Amino acid sequence: VAVRQSQFREQQGQTADGIKIEIAANIAHAIEAKPAFNNGAESVGLFRTEMLYMDRTSAPDEDELYNIFCQAIEAANDKPIIVRTIDIGGDKPVDYLKIPAENNPFLGYRAVRIYEEFIELFKTQLRSILRASAHGPLKIMIPMISSVEEILWVKDVLAEVRQELRKEKLPFDEKISFGIMLEVPSIAFIIDQCCEEIDFFSIGSNDLTQYLMAVDRDNAKVTKTYNSLNPAFLRTLDHVVREVHRHGKWIGLCGELGAKGSVLPLLVGLGLDEISMSAPSIPATKERIAKLDSRQCRQLLNKAMNCRTTLEVEHLLAQFRMEQT
Ligand code: PEP
Ligand code: MG
Repeated sequence: VAVRQSQFREQQGQTADGIKIEIAANIAHAIEAKPAFNNGAESVGLFRTEMLYMDRTSAPDEDELYNIFCQAIEAANDKPIIVRTIDIGGDKPVDYLKIPAENNPFLGYRAVRIYEEFIELFKTQLRSILRASAHGPLKIMIPMISSVEEILWVKDVLAEVRQELRKEKLPFDEKISFGIMLEVPSIAFIIDQCCEEIDFFSIGSNDLTQYLMAVDRDNAKVTKTYNSLNPAFLRTLDHVVREVHRHGKWIGLCGELGAKGSVLPLLVGLGLDEISMSAPSIPATKERIAKLDSRQCRQLLNKAMNCRTTLEVEHLLAQFRMEQT
């Protein structure tokens, strides 16, 4: 298997009928970038930066972050890296921020919602990303966005930080791409308005499933309900991908769903621009995609969206898989 898959490492993600889907890596540290690219990543679709803030006694400063992003850029060799700003809170506590425990952390004070209180921390991160963008293609992505207000607020802060850097004569990519995670269901209904403000979206299927189905992603008691093959979830995905493309913007997916081989035909059917996953899954995913026909995948997705139960969708996928081999 290793030998067979190694040939796919070098290739672009592409279906049998020639539809390109960028296959990207999720990373949490700069040192993971090089192995990810060696494993065939065409880009980094999600750099989860919160790990850089965890398991320490104070936040990293601007230079430390800048060096980390530069290290990732060096490994990327001109391939793009989507840096997600900190998604702290929820399941990712950071002691030195002294955020009080909450009864409902996943519905509470996390990600973009804490940036106003910790504005210096957020600005420091934006400064470090912008400064590193002078050396290679970085993109900025904001987690847990639920409204246009939040996008506008972040854009104001970003504009301020850019102005500071210009004054200090520190170079950065003036055309840096700016996007959001699509992981709160409210965004699905305001894609048109978001498209006026941002360059791209990445679907966070872990949280989007959690929030759409109102089911804790970490609670073993409710795993039956936490299933991304639910027809309601598939219809949501189809709707958002269509809407984003109708407005001429780019949309990827970076949740764990991207690495599930059995679900891949549905993701291909959606017409996503990119799928980002943990690096070890990349060669096998490229190999599977190369065998898929995008039109058959689209038909499969249409059937799946008309199923009434998750089990029916699962059977459909199993049948499709059998017909493929
Ligand atoms: C997601 O929610 O799918 C996602 C990629 O973000 P995280 O798992 O870091 O919340
Ligand atoms: Mg998330």
